[in-house]
Amino acid sequence: MKQKIIDSKKYPKKCSNCIFARVPEDKSVVLCEKKGIVEPDSHCRKYEYDPFKRVPQKSVISTDFTAEDFAL
Ligand code: SF4
Repeated sequence: MKQKIIDSKKYPKKCSNCIFARVPEDKSVVLCEKKGIVEPDSHCRKYEYDPFKRVPQKSVISTDFTAEDFAL
């Protein structure tokens, strides 16, 4: 049985993350080597995950520090 390496809930299948896709700067469409022009959020059965195309979420850093947070 084939083991799933990539968690599909954490990394959903999207053309914008596919190895066959070229994403222009405005990201309104995706240029696919297999299908031509496609929507960025769609996918097909030839989908292959490309980890270099994933854009990580920005981390949110809290700014409400007090002097006690830095005291030893
Ligand atoms: S249409 Fe299929 S092959 Fe093309 S980019 Fe989307 S998932 Fe990849």
